[in-house]
Amino acid sequence: MNSDSVNNTANTAETDSTHFIEDIIINDLKPGGRFEGKQVHTRFPPEPNGYLHIGHAKAIVIDFGMAERFNGICNLRMDDTNPSKEDVVYVTSIQEDIRWLGYDWDDRFYYASEYFPQMYELACQLIRKNLAFVCELKPEEIRKTRGTLSTPATPSPWRDRPTEESLGLFERMKQGEFPDGAMTLRAKIDLTSGNFNMRDPVLYRIVHAHHHRTGNDWCIYPMYDYAHPLEDALESITHSLCSLEFEDHRPLYDWVIDNLDGLPSRPRQIEFARLNIDHTVLSKRKLRALVESGIVNGWDDPRMPTLSGLRRRGYTPRSIRSFCNRIGVSKVNSTVDYNFLEHCLREDLNENAERVMGVLKPVKLIIDNYPENQSEYFEIENNPNRPEDGTRQITFSRELWIDEDDFRIDPPRKFHRLFPGNEVRLKAAYVIRCTGYRCDSDGNLLEIHAEYDPATRGGQTPDGRKIKGTIHWVDAKTAVEAEVRLYDNLFSVADPDASDQDFMSLVDPGSLIVLKDCKVESSLATTETQTSFQFLRLGYFCLDPDSRPDRLVFNRSVSLKDSYRP
Ligand code: ATP
Ligand code: MG
Repeated sequence: MNSDSVNNTANTAETDSTHFIEDIIINDLKPGGRFEGKQVHTRFPPEPNGYLHIGHAKAIVIDFGMAERFNGICNLRMDDTNPSKEDVVYVTSIQEDIRWLGYDWDDRFYYASEYFPQMYELACQLIRKNLAFVCELKPEEIRKTRGTLSTPATPSPWRDRPTEESLGLFERMKQGEFPDGAMTLRAKIDLTSGNFNMRDPVLYRIVHAHHHRTGNDWCIYPMYDYAHPLEDALESITHSLCSLEFEDHRPLYDWVIDNLDGLPSRPRQIEFARLNIDHTVLSKRKLRALVESGIVNGWDDPRMPTLSGLRRRGYTPRSIRSFCNRIGVSKVNSTVDYNFLEHCLREDLNENAERVMGVLKPVKLIIDNYPENQSEYFEIENNPNRPEDGTRQITFSRELWIDEDDFRIDPPRKFHRLFPGNEVRLKAAYVIRCTGYRCDSDGNLLEIHAEYDPATRGGQTPDGRKIKGTIHWVDAKTAVEAEVRLYDNLFSVADPDASDQDFMSLVDPGSLIVLKDCKVESSLATTETQTSFQFLRLGYFCLDPDSRPDRLVFNRSVSLKDSYRP
């Protein structure tokens, strides 16, 4: 576990339900089972070609969570076998995000590219066993000769070339003698297989590209289906947990491992359903497109489903782990309600966030019977759910800010907030009665006037009279200026992936609303990013890294209203 985030550490209590992967592992560990007497060893293998998103969080919670559950270990491995799209900045962000989520790989951090020499040797072993050959068909010719469900693939004209010839050509491919696409190394498996992945799949291709770690050492790169089982086996992984799209690749995964001698382990691949959430997209390719087009403000835009975006938005590691554990693990793809993710955050923040007051659309409230140069303090609880979080002082004086929405000149029925003649409670302070208001010549509200009742200090009514409404406020004398950013779903359509239109054109322009002239209580002047607050009656907010001491910027993480219906 990550030692520098005590509050964030995952624990097994969060994973109390069992699922099919757990059942398989339990069986494997039984006497006579496939991994009897072995320590459970999993891995999380991201490709460093983008930032992690909430779908990856599901995989991380499963990979690290299963290792933890069985007192095993989990490796972090960069699956860097595709040089053209990968970059070291992604490696750093991936590590940061996993640590933030509350997991640690200790010293078990690997790059798939470390195994390129072994993978090459093992490929030669396959050639020598007459299980692989160098093929000179172009990629599109290979595609054309793959056959159909009812017809077998056409054998490559190079399928039966002598072993020595393939070995020599493979060596020359490695030496860089041939251009990209000129030839490939292919497995010799089964041209009639109902599984296309088994119809002589390509194992190696020529790519003259700079690799972010191995530089120009290699110009042949292994395909995922060949590389992945070897990475797992070379790291002595027992259970290789991955998403459902790899199910059809499992026969090839097993074939690679079964046909090579000298591997330290025979991992078992188990697939689970990918996470999909409505109103967003969960594909690195699509998320990158949003970033590169400038439609969002970077990978960590708080509307993005990336872990860095969710973090900036104010999501806590605990809420994300709780979400991942509660959506369950199954073999059937489904889409999770975005509201459920918000529900998990709200649940955590309701318990743990400090309560403060902020006013998003400020209008001046003047208490005419309160002395001009007077101020007083109220001691209020930081979090009624957690008395141990202590109290703080807020100041009160003659002029306050309240939210525009809490005042009506002509109130609708059942409006219990402020209107001329009505009484409300100013949260934790006094009961006031509205005595009037002033507008400019265009009818815009300038200020509201009221009188306070000194007998109601702390919001009590000694005479027992009922005050129906309580509103929040900020002392104008000590208020701090702030910008507040309100977010909504990035896509207003539920399934942008399924639409006929380009998903980029479906981004909701109203998904970001910036309020520039907000006022927050003075205690927030010294807050730090990532601390979550409940702005009373408004929702949960956190400070954005764009903040400067003279200009606070808050993100609304989630509103108070829960629209999740189980
Ligand atoms: P993307 O399609 O977003 O590019 P990917 O599958 O290519 O994702 P990888 O870096 O290869 O991303 O993924 C690392 C691991 O995370 C894999 O084991 C993959 O199965 C898992 N994973 C990726 N997306 C999801 C998801 N939406 N739900 C569950 N697991 C996922
Ligand atoms: Mg991938």
